[in-house]
Amino acid sequence: MPTRITHLIGGRDWTGTAGRTGAVHNPATGTVTGRVDLASADLVAEVAAAATVAGRAWADASLARRTRVLFAFRELLDRRKEEIAALITAEHGKVLDDALGEVARGLEVAEYACGIPHLLQGGFTEGASTGVDVYSIRQPLGVVAVISPFNFPAMVPLWFVPIAIACGNAVILKPSEKDPSAAVAVARLWTEAGLPDGVMNVVHGDKEAVDALLTGPDVAAVSFVGSTPVARYVYETATAHGKRVQALGGAKNHMLVLPDADLDLAADAAVNAGFGSAGERCMAISALVAVEPVADPLVARIEQRMRGLRTGDGSTGCDMGPLVTAAHRDRVAGLVAAGVEAGAALVVDGRTGPFHGDSGGFWLGPTLFDHVTPDMSIYREEIFGPVLSVVRVPSYDAGLELINANRYGNGTAIFTNDGGAARRFQREVRVGMVGVNVPIPVPVAYYSFGGWKDSLFGDTHAYGPDGVRFFTRGKVVTARWLDPSHGGLNLGFPRTD
Ligand code: NAD
Repeated sequence: MPTRITHLIGGRDWTGTAGRTGAVHNPATGTVTGRVDLASADLVAEVAAAATVAGRAWADASLARRTRVLFAFRELLDRRKEEIAALITAEHGKVLDDALGEVARGLEVAEYACGIPHLLQGGFTEGASTGVDVYSIRQPLGVVAVISPFNFPAMVPLWFVPIAIACGNAVILKPSEKDPSAAVAVARLWTEAGLPDGVMNVVHGDKEAVDALLTGPDVAAVSFVGSTPVARYVYETATAHGKRVQALGGAKNHMLVLPDADLDLAADAAVNAGFGSAGERCMAISALVAVEPVADPLVARIEQRMRGLRTGDGSTGCDMGPLVTAAHRDRVAGLVAAGVEAGAALVVDGRTGPFHGDSGGFWLGPTLFDHVTPDMSIYREEIFGPVLSVVRVPSYDAGLELINANRYGNGTAIFTNDGGAARRFQREVRVGMVGVNVPIPVPVAYYSFGGWKDSLFGDTHAYGPDGVRFFTRGKVVTARWLDPSHGGLNLGFPRTD
């Protein structure tokens, strides 16, 4: 019998009856393990109105009180990380160790948010003019919506929620309806940590719920992460409704390997970054750009490593789990077929197994293409699966041009032992996050995460200093304490003297 997964509103499970529900699967078996309630637009509006009231009181809570809640939340999250990782594996399919890694990276953002008294410190200028002081403060926005994708069911909500709450906002989180349980489990910890009811809410849903968040009058800002077409839609719709928006979109990440690189280390990195989490990472390496003459020896090394990978049930110690849904597996398998059709060389075919798990699982093994060209759909499209494409280029300049011409600009990496080349690359590449001999350069919590081009719509990146800026509004106060010398009429523009 599938479990009911419902909204968490005002610190409690919703007790109403949903007009519509969605199926949640265990991707390693293909069975329906849960049914998630899908919120109506009316319910979202109700939650937003209640969150507005709760948010007002929370905005007035002292920084000392907010910080205590954040520290308690951090401790609870650390204590429950195994439980949350198991929920991720059960609904997303990624292997347990990877799920734990995801929670750990989310935990880092909670730790960063614990420093909120420092992060919200403003500036103060004494005597900007005679007897006049000027200071800056940052204030919360009100109710903010966080809309997250399936591929990091705990980490992506954690990129935003702790900072939004630390800044004094109320939050409505709309997790992916494909694997919603981990987000609910993390959200429950806020209540346990002492956050007042109504400040943190989870509503499940699909387009109807999202549209209500993007257009409703009580939501001040939207942080979205998902595919590029939806990110663009979210950005355009929510900004047209007067909201502040950051919408992180899809990716096609390139790894440029120069002839002087250590090919064994580069092959390890390509396999880890290409096939970890079955390629369902926005920072996964999808295109390996091999500067000749490295392609032949590099492809041989990658192939040899891939032959040893075990694809199977993520809870049983395999290297790689299934894809998230049958439809997604079929789409990725379709792209593999299109690559063969287009003339790319299929070096390892992941469609054939073996798979260490139930025959109903959504399986697709690691797949390697060589001789891929930029006109092929396997190069052009974001595959979001365990498919690595090798594109051969004659020079560094040709590789750089390829990467810069791509519509996406989330992450990229260069593998080389030449410091000058690496330095040139970090300066010239038009991508938001760059790795030098680091294949998945996800910034630590005290920097900010975000891509360029079609990988991000909006001006601010996620978490770190940008996160604090996004979830607050600046104000500057100019003050003086009047004495008789300030009297008299003068209609001129105020001058500093
Ligand atoms: P998705 O765009 O299908 O869904 C993301 C969210 O939007 C979900 O909560 C979903 O319910 C909602 N949604 C889906 N269709 C919608 C519509 N038509 N109108 C309104 N809302 C809609 O993305 P996904 O498949 O869950 O996640 C994978 C995608 O997310 C990939 O493209 C990946 O690159 C991207 N991603 C990007 C980053 C990043 O940091 N740039 C991080 C993680 C994932």
